[in-house]
Amino acid sequence: MSDDVRDVVIIGSGPAGLTAALYTARASLHPLVIEGLQPGGQLTITTMVENWPGHRDGVMGPQLMADMRAQAEHFGTAFLAGLVARVDLSQRPFTLTLDSGEVLRARALIIATGASAKLLGLPSEMKLMGRGVSTCATCDGFFFRNRPVAIVGGGDTALEEAIYLAKLASHVTVIHRRDTLRASKIMQDKALANPKITFRWNTAVEEILADERGDVNAARVRDTKTGAIDTLAVDGVFVAIGHTPNTALFAGQLDMDEGGYLVTQGVRTNVTGVFAAGDVQDPVYRQAITSAGAGCMAAMDAERWLELGDPAYHHGEAATANA
Ligand code: FAD
Ligand code: NAP
Repeated sequence: MSDDVRDVVIIGSGPAGLTAALYTARASLHPLVIEGLQPGGQLTITTMVENWPGHRDGVMGPQLMADMRAQAEHFGTAFLAGLVARVDLSQRPFTLTLDSGEVLRARALIIATGASAKLLGLPSEMKLMGRGVSTCATCDGFFFRNRPVAIVGGGDTALEEAIYLAKLASHVTVIHRRDTLRASKIMQDKALANPKITFRWNTAVEEILADERGDVNAARVRDTKTGAIDTLAVDGVFVAIGHTPNTALFAGQLDMDEGGYLVTQGVRTNVTGVFAAGDVQDPVYRQAITSAGAGCMAAMDAERWLELGDPAYHHGEAATANA
């Protein structure tokens, strides 16, 4: 084990982790970011990001994340390639064990491990991600104006996204593996009444197909009752079958909701000195900008906690200090 105790360790290198790094680095806290299996986070698997403020013509996801990393590094952030395999939050300083076996200790911990969209597991799915396959209608719906799209899933997310997409796309087909929706009644009523949305019941996506340029142009679907195969001409396939927050690591140590998201007050977890930011604590918004905003909050709260220590923090003064 290293004898050094770091002021701040940040787990995760997406928009939340890198923004937390930028702020804590500029506060001279010498943060260490553990990058995880996906350095740069989810935006590294997309193409154009059009809703990150300040880029009138959009910015490519991988470029945006490379810029965020460079900016955090410029102000003194250290990076470590690797995965946190275990944490001990029962005593301070907190202890983190990496998959390499290396052990780190930190006075304050910022968790920014994100949430992963569940995927169907088709070979074409990852290959065509950003080329017509998406897991986020708010992010990518705009690219499908006046074009036909399909959405896979029968829960609230799928129907909410179908209703959103119906405002942009020429037509939305909801592909659901059963003939009963899991979504709430109100969402069902809205989607079923929308003339731009049709449902393919008892249907599974077998493969997502692309044209010669490598852009999605159809989905091959199978009727789960009859086995009949059909091809649905669509330019986009939105997979909306749920998300898994990356929180298994913290089971039994941090409060989680029933979906496994970390429960926070602002960005503070139930363990003093441990903060969480971004998709990992946000089942609702799940955007790059909201994650970055939460990363900023976590950094500022961590700084105040390190400065003020326990008593002031416990009395809730951290959030209002200097206000
Ligand atoms: P993530 O970006 O998910 O980063 C999580 C980080 O944690 C990763 O670096 C990972 O390696 C690390 N990690 C996880 N577990 C461990 C561990 N055990 N040890 C160490 N590190 C770990 N949002 C928008 O606002 N606009 C868009 O256009 C947009 N497009 C998208 C397109 C796609 C295809 C996807 C999938 C998402 C898109 N989003 C978009 C959503 C956006 O990417 C997320 O909201 C955002 O990335 C969340 O940021 P985050 O920092 O919380 O987590
Ligand atoms: P969810 O409720 O778990 O629904 C997932 C859907 O995807 C289900 O219909 C499921 O089918 C389907 N599915 C799962 N795996 C699949 C696979 N491999 N292949 C094909 N289909 C698959 O997830 P969610 O819709 O993301 O919602 C998560 C939570 O957030 C829920 O509690 C929901 O109510 C809430 N939420 C609320 C709102 C709102 O109120 N506005 C909006 C979004 C989400 P089956 O039905 O057959 O299992």
